[in-house]
This record gives sequence, structure tokens and C-alpha cells, in this order.
Amino acid sequence: MRAVKETIVPVFIPHKGCPHLCVFCNQKNISGAYKAPSPEEVRDYLSGALSHENSDATIAFYGGTFTAIPWPEQEKYLSVASEFIDMGFASGIRLSTRPDEIDAERARVLKEHNVKTVELGVQSMDDSVLEKAGRGHTGADAMRAAKAVKDAGLELGIQLMAGLPGDSGERFLYTVSDTVRLQPHFVRIYPALVVEGSALADMWRRGECVPLSLLEAVELCAQAVGMFEAAGIMVIRIGLQPGEDLEKSLLAGPYHPAFGHLVRSRIALRKMLGALENFSGESAEIVVNPRELSVYKGIRNANVRELEKSTGRKIKISPGDADFGTFKIRP
Ligand code: SF4
Repeated sequence: MRAVKETIVPVFIPHKGCPHLCVFCNQKNISGAYKAPSPEEVRDYLSGALSHENSDATIAFYGGTFTAIPWPEQEKYLSVASEFIDMGFASGIRLSTRPDEIDAERARVLKEHNVKTVELGVQSMDDSVLEKAGRGHTGADAMRAAKAVKDAGLELGIQLMAGLPGDSGERFLYTVSDTVRLQPHFVRIYPALVVEGSALADMWRRGECVPLSLLEAVELCAQAVGMFEAAGIMVIRIGLQPGEDLEKSLLAGPYHPAFGHLVRSRIALRKMLGALENFSGESAEIVVNPRELSVYKGIRNANVRELEKSTGRKIKISPGDADFGTFKIRP
């Protein structure tokens, strides 16, 4: 299942409310934002960013632990965002927070203040991985938080991270299974990257962690996406948003500016390989929906080459009358 396009107007509040730094995190380098704007600055920003033309826009507070900001200030941010909702310039608020910073009462209050979606930075359900990542919460906290968010009638998003220190492919897929059971409305999946200024950078320099290779990360994320989508859960983001600040500060790890495309192409490759097993003939034409041509072909035709190598057939992938998400094979 693919995400339905929603207009998100992001407000970055780097590390605002965070009780400490998680080992993989340096929001300055990841989001490019250096200082959290005051509520007044948020008002100025939203005045320029919102208009009646995108009245269904969602104002999103990202990059910190929103619900751990002292309530008077939190309320100011929510009130400023609500001014624009009341004027018909936006339809709701979305925010990200940590699992140990939300409970039934706080979720109820958020709902009263026009919040419609809470994204939980769960990262892993494995307590030993969470400990090594310096998260300061457990998998059980994530389960409780997810329930509190959903019970309050809020939309639940979950962010997971593949390749954290102490994690393995098998453990990560357990995290995915546990997350599927929580039935979030959507998930985001990021591979762990080593960025300058994070504790992970020091661990990496001391040789205490080895990031996933690009191929390992793509394979693992492709499996995770397959599990979520088979359960009807939307995967709205795979890999960090590419950006100059991120690229400049990247030290190691499976970074690719089109990481999500690589993952989608890997999923398409697996499907085509499976279908070709039951197909006879020396050549095959695979007809796909025009909007998915580049995903099926892979970057620089990588999937075509891989299919030809694996099946020993001449392969052509063409745009045609296939429904989105499906393909047809012709001799
Ligand atoms: S990962 Fe989230 S909670 Fe941890 S430091 Fe970064 S923004 Fe804060």
C-alpha cells in the first residue's frame, strides 16, 4: 500500500524536550535546523508557509520530544498552530515524541488541542538494543504509548531504525512483527547512519559498531516493508530525507539519496523473480504501470541486469496497461 499524499508543513524543533541525546541522533545535522523556533517565530513561519490553497495541510512539529516540552510552552506552540486551523489554513497538528513521554492523559489533552497524529520514535522493541542506543525506554513503554495514542482517538505513526548497535536482521524483524501487532496507521523506517556530532560517531571511531552495508540495509528494509504492507500498514518513508547538511556530516552507514527507491526496487525484483520461476521461454517482457517503470527497472537498469543474470533470459521491462503495484509477463 502506498501513502496518500498529504500536505505536511514541518516545523523543526531540534532536540526540544529531549531528555538526553540518543546515540544515533544529531538533529542539527539530520534536519539542517539549528535552534528550535519560539512560538512567535513559528507564527511568523506559518503565516508565510500556509494559505487557503492548502487548507487541508497538517502542521507537523518534528525533530524533538514535543510532549516533554514544559506544558506552558507546549501549549503556546499548540495554540499558535490552532490559530491557523481556526482560520481555515490547516486541518490539524502532527507531532513526534518518545514512548516514555506520552500516556493516556497527555494523549487526551493533545486531542483537545487539535492534534490528530502522534508519531512515536520507537526505533526498536528489543530492550538491549534500546539500551545501547541510549534511548532510556523499553519495548514495553512503546507498547503502552501506542495503546494510549490509539485509545485517545489519535492517529498513530511509528518510526523504526534498522542497524542499531547490538541489533541483527533477525531481531529487527521481530521488532517489525511486534510493531505490526500494534496496528499503527503508518510507519517510517530509517537505516542507522553515523553522523558527526553523535555518540554513534565516537563508537564508530572506537570500532565499537559496524553499520549495515547499503545492500544489507536495502534487503532488511525491503523485508520490513513487505511485512508492513502485507498487514495493510502504510510505509510513508524509507530512509532519511537527503540534504546537504546530512551529506556533509555523514561519516559511515548505508546512505543513498534514493534509499527508498532502492528498497522499492528490491521488492519489485523479488516479485519478478518469483513470477519468472513459473514462466517458460527464452525471453520475457514484463509490463508495468508507467508510474512504476523506474522502480521495476531499478537504478540504471540494475533489476534488468539482475533478472537476466538470475534467470538466463533476455528481459525487457516496459510501461503498459498494468495496474499500479502489479505487472504482467509476456513472452
Ligand atoms: S532520537 Fe528523538 S528523542 Fe532521541 S535525541 Fe533525537 S530527537 Fe531527541
